[in-house]
Amino acid sequence: MYMYGDLGYWAIVIISVVLGFITQAYIKSTYNKWSQVPSGMNATGAQIARRMLNENGASDCGIGRIPGKLTDNYDPRDNSLHLSDDNYRGGSVASVAVACHEAGHAIQTAEGYFPGKLRTALVPMVNFSQSIWMFVFLAGILMGVIGLVQVAILLFAFTVIFQLVTLPVEIDASRRAVRYLQASGSEIDQRGAKQVLTAAALTYVASALVSVLNLLYLLGRTNRR
Ligand SMILES: [Zn+2]
Repeated sequence: MYMYGDLGYWAIVIISVVLGFITQAYIKSTYNKWSQVPSGMNATGAQIARRMLNENGASDCGIGRIPGKLTDNYDPRDNSLHLSDDNYRGGSVASVAVACHEAGHAIQTAEGYFPGKLRTALVPMVNFSQSIWMFVFLAGILMGVIGLVQVAILLFAFTVIFQLVTLPVEIDASRRAVRYLQASGSEIDQRGAKQVLTAAALTYVASALVSVLNLLYLLGRTNRR
């Protein structure tokens, strides 16, 4: 078979599982640790995010709730933060960190931050290539058509580029959150936010790394054929 047969492939599978496990465990334990610590600002995640938005030119951004745990996100389509219940109502350092990170994304949009704009523009195309690349790849292998395999790899490369563009956007949102907490004078929030958001960034770095390895592997295999 094309894949599944060699050491390189299994090495990537193992790296992916191990890295995934470590980064998930790390974010969970860091988040749990800081959700026991009350924020120094005496307010909920939603309230602090509201202040951060208002003070940074994003007062038109809404704040709503979303079910689940750590499901928090900023959606540029409705220009709203969607905060999980824990972070919306909670007043822990972890809640404030996550809420301010999402506010950071809204401020990126308000400022027209370029990598953020690029990432948003790529979303529809990446959804398409993510859902189709594996089918094209398998069809190419089964029918023995190298052209289809190459198209599949190109589609996959696109999702890798998307993951790489995501990195600076996420790191910038976290930087904005930490900077805001520093400026608003809460030492404990600043320290906790740094730890929680670094742990979150590591999950993005790990999955981007695994995707790059996968892409290199696919390119290497195709070139040898
Ligand atoms: Zn983010």
